[in-house]
Amino acid sequence: MKQKETLSTTPLKQEHIDLSSLLIEEMGDEHKASSVETPLRADAFDKTDEEKIAAIAPHFKAIMEILGMDLRDDSLKGTPLRVAKMYVKELFQGLNPANMPSMTLFENKFQYNEMLVEKNINFYTNCEHHFVPFFGKAHVAYISSGKVIGLSKLNRLVEYFSKRPQVQERLTMQIGKALQTVLQTQDVAVMMDAKHLCVSSRGVKDDSSNTITSFFGGKFQEEKRKMEFLKYIDINE
Ligand SMILES: [Zn+2]
Repeated sequence: MKQKETLSTTPLKQEHIDLSSLLIEEMGDEHKASSVETPLRADAFDKTDEEKIAAIAPHFKAIMEILGMDLRDDSLKGTPLRVAKMYVKELFQGLNPANMPSMTLFENKFQYNEMLVEKNINFYTNCEHHFVPFFGKAHVAYISSGKVIGLSKLNRLVEYFSKRPQVQERLTMQIGKALQTVLQTQDVAVMMDAKHLCVSSRGVKDDSSNTITSFFGGKFQEEKRKMEFLKYIDINE
């Protein structure tokens, strides 16, 4: 049975979600991440992608030269432009709300009122403190308020917010709050389990630790629902 499409876009494109009060509530106001919103300047998108690539490349070249590398070498000379393109077009393209995936909703015709869990969504992002990757699995769940979403959209939403310089706490909150807005329900849970290269490949060089963050909204704050969700995702698997 084909589900009837009821909405083609969401108000999320404007990103007018007030996330800051919730962050302080859930994480304590002494936490390092200052806001659930990615800190962006008002002029963040005045330049086109191409202008940004052209502007970043010479700066990256300067970093390499200061490190003492010989940019005349065939292997190195393309690197500044390559890195600039990768930053703007790939790793950080989720900074721009214009790249937000469209979130099509369907009516919940089957009256499925239990929790839906999408687990083991792979994600790759970059730590905003060191600009090196952290990556792992995201587990997302919601209880339908009458609307449902295509499963692949959950993956795309995780991917969109991952393509920014991030801290794991903020990434988790952004995904959770965005899903609440899109699905028009508070009943959303997100858990992220990640390995940070800034922890494993440098600094304390701890290769075995993972970082786990979670977001529990609405009914997921009830112990019973929370345990059900955790049982489904069974992150020790
Ligand atoms: Zn880091």
